[in-house]
Amino acid sequence: MFAQVILSISHMDIDHVFDYAVGSDLEYKVKIGMRVRVPFGIRGEEREGYVVKVMDKSDVPADKIKYIVSVPDDFPMFSENMLSLALWMRQRYFATLSKCLQTIMPSGIKDKTDYYVNVKYVRPTDKTKGFIEACDGDKRKQKQVDVLRTVVRYKEMPLAELKKRIGGAEYAVKTLRNSGYIEVYTKRVLADTQVTMLEDVSALVELNDGQKRVIAKWEMERAEKNRPFLIHGITGSGKTEIYIKMIEKVIAEGKQAIVLVPEISLTPLMTGRFLRRFGNIAAVSHSKMTYRERFNCWKRAKDGEVSVVIGPRSALFMPFDNLGIVIIDEEHEKGYVSENAPAYDAVETAEKLCEISGASLVLGSATPSVKSIYRASIGEIKYVRLDKRAKEGSIEPDIDVVDMREELKDGNRSVFSKALRDAIEERLKNKQQIMLFINRRGYSTFVSCRYCGYVIKCGHCDVSYKYHASTGKLTCHYCGDTIDRPKTCPVCGSDKIRYFGSGTQKAEDEIKKLFPEARVLRMDADSVKGKNGSAEILRKFGNGEADILIGTQMIAKGHDFENVTLVGILAADLSLNTGEYDSGERTYQLITQMAGRAGRGKLRGRVIVQTYEPDNEAIQSAVKGDTRGFYKREIEYRQRMGYPPCTECSKIEIVGMDEKNVIDCAKETADCLTTIGMTVLGPVPQAISKIKDEYRWMVTVKGDNTNRMREAVAKVYDEKRQGFENRGVYINPKTM
Ligand code: ADP
Ligand code: ZN
Ligand code: ZN
Repeated sequence: MFAQVILSISHMDIDHVFDYAVGSDLEYKVKIGMRVRVPFGIRGEEREGYVVKVMDKSDVPADKIKYIVSVPDDFPMFSENMLSLALWMRQRYFATLSKCLQTIMPSGIKDKTDYYVNVKYVRPTDKTKGFIEACDGDKRKQKQVDVLRTVVRYKEMPLAELKKRIGGAEYAVKTLRNSGYIEVYTKRVLADTQVTMLEDVSALVELNDGQKRVIAKWEMERAEKNRPFLIHGITGSGKTEIYIKMIEKVIAEGKQAIVLVPEISLTPLMTGRFLRRFGNIAAVSHSKMTYRERFNCWKRAKDGEVSVVIGPRSALFMPFDNLGIVIIDEEHEKGYVSENAPAYDAVETAEKLCEISGASLVLGSATPSVKSIYRASIGEIKYVRLDKRAKEGSIEPDIDVVDMREELKDGNRSVFSKALRDAIEERLKNKQQIMLFINRRGYSTFVSCRYCGYVIKCGHCDVSYKYHASTGKLTCHYCGDTIDRPKTCPVCGSDKIRYFGSGTQKAEDEIKKLFPEARVLRMDADSVKGKNGSAEILRKFGNGEADILIGTQMIAKGHDFENVTLVGILAADLSLNTGEYDSGERTYQLITQMAGRAGRGKLRGRVIVQTYEPDNEAIQSAVKGDTRGFYKREIEYRQRMGYPPCTECSKIEIVGMDEKNVIDCAKETADCLTTIGMTVLGPVPQAISKIKDEYRWMVTVKGDNTNRMREAVAKVYDEKRQGFENRGVYINPKTM
């Protein structure tokens, strides 16, 4: 027996399989997806590898072939389906198969198979209820009654958890156990598994007619063409309830479900709803969980203990053997694209996974990506719309635009327009809550000298430092470099150093000055600390412990706060002027999403959008709620300009420490692509042309034919990579 093995070392030069012989003692263990230890290289050093094929002969001569040394696990890390997915990812995202396999494999694998521990659990017996009824009110037995009540509520729970919740429970449990009022037993569970102790709430929601129609269309699509199914439904239209219904159906068929959310720590309410509805067969995979906890989630999915997993993009790779559905909520979110190699787009990858495993892909959003709407318009995606809120009595908010140029003319230099200030004052008076959004953390955009115009920039990156009032220092948001705030200009020596623009911290300071009595919370990358930092801020705000929540993107996600009646977008221009082809799309989505945060309850909400470009089309479309018009115009614009999704584009990044070498290599790349007949834009420096001392250039390739373009990019990549690396330059193709 022989096996083809991919080594764990990720390098383009060894991005192919190696044949190994399998000794008879290991034959029963070696299967696709197993990790193996193999000798590699001239010195035969032992390395980790992954089996991708098992064969009964090999082309390698018998005297040359080496033997697999050992097999550490007793279960495979990936299935054949997952291997197919990894092979597709390798091609699509220009990464090594090794990296792709590691991406789909669980994190936190250990070199031993014993992942389980014995844990003591308690559960009620048939005598429990009687005891509670008989002894309730008896002071001497109150502790025992409390213990039993808790155990009944959760059906079963770890003894340790019970002790944590009720002081002195240990003695009570002993007494109760001896008389048969409670059962203590041992359960074999994965070590470090997070026990979700949620109350058993089974109040089911009856779907309304609109929601039922969506389910019917989905059933039909699934039976017939099974294209990706896009639900375009405004915030609060009941998409989450639809997802839950779909999952119930899939589970009834004996299949499993994956739900992707953009950032799980920001969507505790939504995840809570899934956990409550599906109880123990649902699990959360969390980017801030330990490796071990994430591994346990993976293993429980593999062992069939869990049928629904909710998580960020990496949850896509759960080892289900009969996947029925993948649901991607807020499918337009940028967070679904990985920043690390392989730079996979989870939406695309999910589509491939569903194709391989025969599952249904459901996308949902209040503001779908232009790409999905475009694909729906050419019949590649099945599209359904929901444009009413599910809850009776909740009404859509009014949206107003404030022209900040007029404010300036009137001598108002503050972050807040008069209209917004008045609106805040009124809400505070009426004890209603306010959310203020600004797409930038810190204090101000940049620090510059008023006298000579010098802007203080990071020495390692081509960006200006940001001022942070809390520390009084300047920080580079790319490399983290921090310096003291200069008192005089380093160029001309003048003391006219000023701060321009604004961020979350500056907005917070101004609010505190304007409304000293208001209770303010801030949520951004600086204020959120630790595993539960963001959940804690959201919990406080939800409990009414603050009047105003100021934040970055983090607050734009799906939070449902009934008492919020005012949403302020402080600087809509920040997302308009990113210099990217999709800045209009991002601005439209942002305003529409933020508007969805206002007036989720019975009170009418109001949204105020502050901008220097009040006539901008994206802003106007969002304000008027002209959804159809927005997508139509945006697609026409992309078509006219030859931008994605109407034209396929690939971006090739070229980076290195030596500026001249980088520019030379970028030119060579462009020339090479032009020679083989591709349409090339650039080379040009990237939007941020230097990060951490690395110069960054790029070449964009356009093509009507996706395959031809990918082949061309792959060809250039293969030809040039090694030569460039010798000159200290790295080439990195990306799909757009
Ligand atoms: P979305 O995911 O589209 O934002 P949700 O599913 O969260 O919408 O629904 C918004 C609110 O309406 C939630 O509080 C939900 O419980 C409620 N809701 C949804 N569907 C129904 C229904 N059919 N009947 C009553 N309430 C519903
Ligand atoms: Zn100066
Ligand atoms: Zn820097």
